[in-house]
Amino acid sequence: MAVSRTAIIAGNWKMNYGPRQASSFAVEILPELGRVLRNAPNILSILCPPAISLSAVKEVLEAAPTPRLELGAQNMYFEDKGAFTGEIAPSMVKELCTTVILGHSERRGYFGETDELVNKKTLAAFKHGLRPIVCIGENLEQYELGETGEVIRAQIQGSLANFNAQQARDLVIAYEPIWAIGTGRAATRQIAGDVIHLIRHLYRDMYGAEAADAVRILYGGSVTAANIQDFITHPDIDGALVGGASIKPEFTELVRKSAESL
Ligand code: PEP
Repeated sequence: MAVSRTAIIAGNWKMNYGPRQASSFAVEILPELGRVLRNAPNILSILCPPAISLSAVKEVLEAAPTPRLELGAQNMYFEDKGAFTGEIAPSMVKELCTTVILGHSERRGYFGETDELVNKKTLAAFKHGLRPIVCIGENLEQYELGETGEVIRAQIQGSLANFNAQQARDLVIAYEPIWAIGTGRAATRQIAGDVIHLIRHLYRDMYGAEAADAVRILYGGSVTAANIQDFITHPDIDGALVGGASIKPEFTELVRKSAESL
């Protein structure tokens, strides 16, 4: 990654670990993760447990304050409040978190989230002082048909519209090819790097060179402690969004290896 951008290693716990288990896991990893992060000034790590477990994990983090370790939510709604049963408002996320993952392919695929909805959520996150991590990526069929560029372009234009100059710089994008998520088949360094290079180029067309230099673009899809160095050492890749490996002690190893490579 480029020296001017602080790397992010975020862990998406998905629908794993209720409050009790989330708290135990945080207690288990925190001593070593804390040691690693204290010696890694250029890495920000963000834990994203299920919404119902955020308070429990926050309590653990508050008991052992660790530099550059933050909490994120996996989703939220865009409205401020009201009759939206089951949803969580941006201000509620903001009480506990710095960050929110938006437009994950599982949300797009299983819950019908469109680029337009993801864009509304992203603007709402900015309005409430949250750091959005917006996920984009093509599915296997699109990849095999060579449509990755077109899919990415449409997602960027739809999901990442209408930012002001500051928001354009503060955004975090996660390039997550759907065929690589949870499959054990990570993209190669070359594929991830090429697509992320393209994303930065398209982003430059929308928001200019300063925003394109500042925006952080992560890779996600079967990232492990064994392959993180392939990605984090690429000049265009600014870190990783990690699923499966983030709910194991391996996550600390992954952060340690990232720190060693930067
Ligand atoms: C994810 O959930 O964003 C993800 C990349 O999952 P995994 O690391 O398990 O592929």
